[in-house]
Amino acid sequence: MLSEAELAPFASGELAKTLGPLLYAPNGVGELRPHALAPLVWATLHHAQDVPYWSERMPDEGDLAPLDWLAKIPSVRRDDLDRQRQDFLSPRSTFAFCSFTSSTSTGRSLLIERGREEALYIRNFFAVMQARRPQPALKGLGLQAVNINHGDLLSAGGSSGYSFPVNLYVATGYATAANLLTQDFTWPGWERRIGSLNGSFSCLYRLARYMDHHGYELEDGQLLSAVAFASPIPPAARDYLQGRFGTRLHDNYSMTEAFGSAAYCDECDGYHMAPFIWDEVLDTDEDRPVADGEVGELTITPLFPFAQRFVLLRYRTGDLAVRFKSICKRGGQAIRLLGRKRNAVRLADGGWVGSIPVASALFDEAELHRPENNIEIDGDRTCGEFPWMKLSSNEVGDKAYLDIAPTFGANSDSARMQSIVDRILDRLPDLPLEVRAQPLETLSTGGTWKL
Ligand SMILES: [Zn+2]
Repeated sequence: MLSEAELAPFASGELAKTLGPLLYAPNGVGELRPHALAPLVWATLHHAQDVPYWSERMPDEGDLAPLDWLAKIPSVRRDDLDRQRQDFLSPRSTFAFCSFTSSTSTGRSLLIERGREEALYIRNFFAVMQARRPQPALKGLGLQAVNINHGDLLSAGGSSGYSFPVNLYVATGYATAANLLTQDFTWPGWERRIGSLNGSFSCLYRLARYMDHHGYELEDGQLLSAVAFASPIPPAARDYLQGRFGTRLHDNYSMTEAFGSAAYCDECDGYHMAPFIWDEVLDTDEDRPVADGEVGELTITPLFPFAQRFVLLRYRTGDLAVRFKSICKRGGQAIRLLGRKRNAVRLADGGWVGSIPVASALFDEAELHRPENNIEIDGDRTCGEFPWMKLSSNEVGDKAYLDIAPTFGANSDSARMQSIVDRILDRLPDLPLEVRAQPLETLSTGGTWKL
């Protein structure tokens, strides 16, 4: 008799085969998805019954449709996980590996245990799901330039080819990455190209600049894909990176606390959630969804029947987002991200000014101070960083102040400052912004530039 753990990969493979085509259907996903998700909701709620936190909070099944059940369970915030992590863990699972959140500008990292079954499930499930999507064959050498502040701490992994974690917090890491990327591999029987290059936007941008500066050339097709995570990519930087690496840049929104991610889509300039995530945009204070087009807090419920440790979280991500109908081929729904709620400004009329669109509009401004990162590329220790900025609102709350620090001094050249302001407002015509010059020292304390 096989145990549940032994059956897990088989079960997840079967599930992927059955549901995959439905959930990845290019058309009509919007209508089909709730039906396709129903068995997953049922399984998720079933598994959550012996989790201490949920044992007394489960909605009465009654006549509720599965997705209505989800709308009745309380949302969970990062603070809840920090305080009561043990209560959210399933008592039935084993421990196999852990991942952790990087602490960004505030708070400490959250260490998250994962189950052994979970690792098996995930590997098998995605192998089956992804085999059904058209992809270039990957074999042989895969280079992964991994930002060491993200990702697995201890991994029960395994991949085709080799994986090189490269430390991109020191300058020598960029030389290593550039050398590996441009290496002429001649191992018989192996794919000579490189499978993927993964890293945060800043790391990829610095690497591209390093390769430019030192004359590294990538042959066409040498790199099959590049994946960026952790911060939004300004449009001009996206074009630059795709040109430099000669491949499409996949930009993913994801987090360690909950499995699943959303892929950036340049067709609709939004993010599409992975099929197994139930995503909602909730009011920032109450557990009720806001209408399409309105700003709220992105809340995700991963419906993985193989999630063994956190079996159920209706998780408030802390990120502001807007949901909109999209007419692109990847799905009928997409979200646009506005940035962390704690960095955004709320106006008196309830509207929000988020940091992502603002920071993206500032990125190309060469005459703004940026944080130093101690990695010198082209004699520049600020390469790849978003400029310092701070958002606040005026007393009446009808507009937001955007404070920036020009490199030529806060008040020394009003004509130069005015042309920067004009360009910023041009890129953000719909935001009630007043742009102000500030001395660097008023902006460079705290986490004001972080996204
Ligand atoms: Zn799209």
